Amino acid sequence: MEPLRGLIVRTQSGFYDVQTEGGKLACRLRGRLKQGRRLGDIVAIGDWVQVTLLGDGKGMIEAIEPRQRMLSRMAPSPSGEYQQIIIANPDQAAFVFSCAHPAPRFGMLDRFLVICEKHAIPGLIVANKADLVSPEVARSLFERYLPLGYPVIYSSAISGQGIFDLCQALIQKISVFAGPSGVGKSSLLNRLLPGLDLHAQAVSRTTGKGRHTTVSRELYPLVEGGYVADTPGLKALALWDIEAEELDGYFPEMRERVKECNFNDCTHLHEPGCAVRAAVQAGEIHPDRYQSYTRMRLGEDE
Ligand code: GDP
Ligand code: ZN
Repeated sequence: MEPLRGLIVRTQSGFYDVQTEGGKLACRLRGRLKQGRRLGDIVAIGDWVQVTLLGDGKGMIEAIEPRQRMLSRMAPSPSGEYQQIIIANPDQAAFVFSCAHPAPRFGMLDRFLVICEKHAIPGLIVANKADLVSPEVARSLFERYLPLGYPVIYSSAISGQGIFDLCQALIQKISVFAGPSGVGKSSLLNRLLPGLDLHAQAVSRTTGKGRHTTVSRELYPLVEGGYVADTPGLKALALWDIEAEELDGYFPEMRERVKECNFNDCTHLHEPGCAVRAAVQAGEIHPDRYQSYTRMRLGEDE
């Protein structure tokens, strides 16, 4: 029998839910695919796989299609480091911050955006709690990101502002959501995914043993088509695989200017004739963005 093609929509301790055209199958991995599993995850949510039917709603994953992109992190494990795949093949990442209460942490947002650039994942910014400030204030906080190529959606999980636009941006795509706590991420996701109580799930999850093998990850289907994944914890998105020298390439407003620096190995921290620092001086690069760059470049915390 021909294998079926499907998308991994949930993983938990060696069990995988695979969404096929004919429905969802509870699958395991064929033994020969498990080589190297002590070094990292073999499959993840967002992977396309080939499955054979075992009957009774069960299936066996026979092959994993090549991954286009992924977000991963290194986690400590008894045998050294373990590469945990947070999500395979995301079409975009939505970063949720609030306009107020709490005030936006641009350093964190800029880190997220750098990770997106590194992995060629389009980034989308959700400026939530827009009901708490005037439109002018909201724009003064987030409009700096528009010329860099990141769309900004001003939203409110309370008033409903921007929910339609956010929904439109998610249709037929696999989107990963991230953001600090308290910004209204769960409130937004609960609006986008009616019938799902994300808070209740998050609570029951943290009472588990907390080992990476027991963590379940899930793609939640949107009624309109497409999927949304919530990233557990912020540390999940770290800069572990980014070299200091490549960092300027992940700031769109610096990328185009570095070739005008006097030194071709310019760090943009102190060198004379630095085109990046000149652009900061001239007000062409936002000082907060430059500060984010210097922090990351020097390996400082956000
Ligand atoms: P999370 O930690 O990011 O998942 O945030 P929650 O969804 O738990 O929301 C944190 C708090 O902010 C709750 O008290 C929500 O009622 C409130 N909240 C969420 N979204 C909004 C919003 O758009 N506007 C306002 N004013 N409050 C919001
Ligand atoms: Zn420079």
